[in-house]
Amino acid sequence: GSARRCLRLEPGAAREVLGAADTLLFDCDGVLWRGDAAVAGAPAALSRLQARGKRLCYVTNNSSRTRDAYAEKLRRLGFPPAEPRQVFGSAHCAARYLRQALPPGAAAYVLGGPALGAELRAAGVPHLGPGPAALPGPGPADWARAPLDPAVRAVLVGFDEHFCYAKLCQALRYLQRGGPGCLLLGTNRDHLLPLEGGAAIPGTGCLVKAVEMAAEREAFIIGKPSRYIFDCVSSEFKIEPARTIMVGDRLDTDILMGNNCGLTTLLTLTGVTTLEEVKGHQESDCPSRKSLVPDYYVDSIADLLPALED
Ligand code: PLP
Ligand code: CA
Repeated sequence: GSARRCLRLEPGAAREVLGAADTLLFDCDGVLWRGDAAVAGAPAALSRLQARGKRLCYVTNNSSRTRDAYAEKLRRLGFPPAEPRQVFGSAHCAARYLRQALPPGAAAYVLGGPALGAELRAAGVPHLGPGPAALPGPGPADWARAPLDPAVRAVLVGFDEHFCYAKLCQALRYLQRGGPGCLLLGTNRDHLLPLEGGAAIPGTGCLVKAVEMAAEREAFIIGKPSRYIFDCVSSEFKIEPARTIMVGDRLDTDILMGNNCGLTTLLTLTGVTTLEEVKGHQESDCPSRKSLVPDYYVDSIADLLPALED
């Protein structure tokens, strides 16, 4: 297709672009809310879109919440009622991947939090962890001799605030024992998690990289920009990429996935990205930077409201 130009979506153009779409995929943090506060006007915009018959889905790299928890958060913040099946979180999608990829009786060794465990349980995937590392002795030399579970045939790395050296050892040992027969999955590669007030903490990508470094192999990534998370949406709903809009605040995850999957991409500036960054990519000659440029942008998805008035 022709080069994406990151045009501001004014009400006239918005009417046209929204009119041509039957499905919108929303990234969550930075688009619908920031932390625990809804973006002003976002719940009204989504209510209008739903009233116009648009299908709304939620696509998030955050592996520390279940689909049910997202549906509940949407409700609590005043968004139109969503069913858990409209929510595609990297925890749910990782569980779905493992359910299909693991041989019968095989289990996953998991670095993550309780939500990842809950989604694996819901999908019927046997797993060890998440939770605190079970230390078999006082030091690394003991950990390297700890018993391994014979059923483990996959290592899954998600957001794990209790990530530690002992878990890294255990993950490596499963990968060494299983060789290529042991899957290595990461929920996402986000390098930082921005917090309110400009602070940031290390993201799941840092943990995935640690395991990749140890095992000298590359993880398969479930979340954005991987096509896998979009394939999950497509396998649950009948999606026509040309009639689907991906709305996100992050170029290297949301916008890249949308562009790679043939969707119309819409950047909102309520999250982590500035227009200056987009300009840098636009002006570059590097094709991989060009694929970070969205079709359109708005300051906030509340700017879609005028286009949705009768
Ligand atoms: N991972 C974690 C652990 C998070 O807390 C968040 C945002 O809150 C994300 C990833 C990014 O999520 P999203 O894809 O919805 O922006
Ligand atoms: Ca986001």
